[in-house]
Amino acid sequence: MAKIQMKTPLVEMDGDEMTRVIWQMIKDVLILPHVELKSEYYDLGLVCRNDTNDQITIDAAEATKKYGVAVKCATITPNAARMPEYNLKEMWKSPNGTIRAILDGTVFRAPILAKGINPYIPTWTKPITIARHAYGDVYKNTEMQVPAGSKCELVCTDAQGVETRQLIHSFDGNGVVQGMHNTDKSISSFARSCFNYALDTKQDLWFATKDTISKKYDHRFKDIFAEIFDAEYKEKFDAAGLEYFYTLIDDAVSRVVRSNGGYIWACKNYDGDVMSDMVATAYGSLGMMTSVLVSPDGAYEYEAAHGTVQRHYYKHLKGEKTSTNSVATIFAWSGALRKRGELDELPQLCSYADKLEQATIATIEDGVMTGDLYVLSNLENKRKVDTEEFLQEIGKRLDALLG
Ligand code: NAP
Ligand code: MG
Repeated sequence: MAKIQMKTPLVEMDGDEMTRVIWQMIKDVLILPHVELKSEYYDLGLVCRNDTNDQITIDAAEATKKYGVAVKCATITPNAARMPEYNLKEMWKSPNGTIRAILDGTVFRAPILAKGINPYIPTWTKPITIARHAYGDVYKNTEMQVPAGSKCELVCTDAQGVETRQLIHSFDGNGVVQGMHNTDKSISSFARSCFNYALDTKQDLWFATKDTISKKYDHRFKDIFAEIFDAEYKEKFDAAGLEYFYTLIDDAVSRVVRSNGGYIWACKNYDGDVMSDMVATAYGSLGMMTSVLVSPDGAYEYEAAHGTVQRHYYKHLKGEKTSTNSVATIFAWSGALRKRGELDELPQLCSYADKLEQATIATIEDGVMTGDLYVLSNLENKRKVDTEEFLQEIGKRLDALLG
């Protein structure tokens, strides 16, 4: 059969460790035999980021703005231990943070459900989609260590040069201080992305912050959401029978646990970062959580929500077999290829993406799965396979679906 053709290149961002290994396998086993892949390749592996002084990350984000669709592999965010391991010139920033800052927008994360894999929270029968604000707060912070005897102030100089000062703290002993910001523009586009996504996917929207403690900062988020909802979305939500619901983050957390799922939970940047790991784990495995960054001007960046699975990679380096779940990374590829197909009007490419996902779910539902799912599954015929065999099993089912 002739390979499926593409028009516009996909921005392909390679990454690190076990996910880099899986990345190549997915291409070799599941994509290249069927698709004449047109991609603009950026190596975001830590070696190349270090060699290019991280310029490669900025170039990849700019290319995403230009072409509109990207697929990204998980990447190492360096910490102190990575400095000698990779002989780094600098402790480079999180590539995801850099890309999110350039593209702005909102990250939507949803678990992939398969029959036979049961959530740890048995009432969660429908997916919970986390909408994570992708700009600012602690990810764009300035911070320092402060020596004893220092006085720290917040100074704002307005356009006329007038200064407003507020005391943060006078330090008797050593300490730390941090400055963060966000913009009305970014918060507004976060709100609109969430309202639009709720209408698109016909799900209620929940939003929560800590506005009782953060009476200016978090309260601004609450107010902007309320203003935009009342002015632009209330009628549309009423017509669709959907609800927008605001509550305090503490209350949201307890309600989420007691819910059945089936809604979008909008979170500020940090809340979304940590809560998406909790939600993904509770649904079964980090390897089953997809993630897409949607920018206000309509660029899409697809990825898995998990990291580079470092522990498995070290086993792999020792020549041991691993059983690493590739589902979220496969869905990043299928999501990106489907979006490229929609934008370029290539129905064959969209249909290939659908079948890739069907083949993946069918493999698990047939009882063939990686170790993380094996411990959760109540299928009687379940069988644990290694990283490579899992992909080959998906490949067999994909070949059958594609005829
Ligand atoms: P991680 O890579 O998500 O892995 C944490 C643990 O979760 C693994 O050790 C494994 O548990 C399990 N796990 C995650 N994904 C899995 C998969 N696909 N299949 C099977 N098990 C999976 O997080 P981490 O170890 O904290 O971080 C490793 C590196 O990833 C760090 O350098 C971090 O900076 C980076 N990171 C990158 C991204 C990103 O690029 N989006 C996101 C998060 C972290 P077991 O070991 O128990 O099997
Ligand atoms: Mg995280």
